[in-house]
Amino acid sequence: MGKKSQTSDDFVWQRERCKKCDICQKMCPQHGLKFVDGVLTRDQAKCNLCGICALYCPDQAITIIKNVKRKT
Ligand code: SF4
Ligand code: SF4
Repeated sequence: MGKKSQTSDDFVWQRERCKKCDICQKMCPQHGLKFVDGVLTRDQAKCNLCGICALYCPDQAITIIKNVKRKT
């Protein structure tokens, strides 16, 4: 199989936990989060998966899953 040099990280938002307090939007250094029709939407071009939003969310509604694969 071919070599992979991809990074596969993921951003998960759990709607049922979110209280729409807006803290994540305010804390994001990239200004990459906003609510669109009640859904937290991440601008993938801006987000670098730093995890700050997940850290500051008081309801643990955001999870950043790091799964970095490096080419050897
Ligand atoms: S900080 Fe958490 S609870 Fe608040 S709006 Fe963001 S995801 Fe929702
Ligand atoms: S992971 Fe960092 S850059 Fe991405 S949305 Fe959250 S705070 Fe913003």
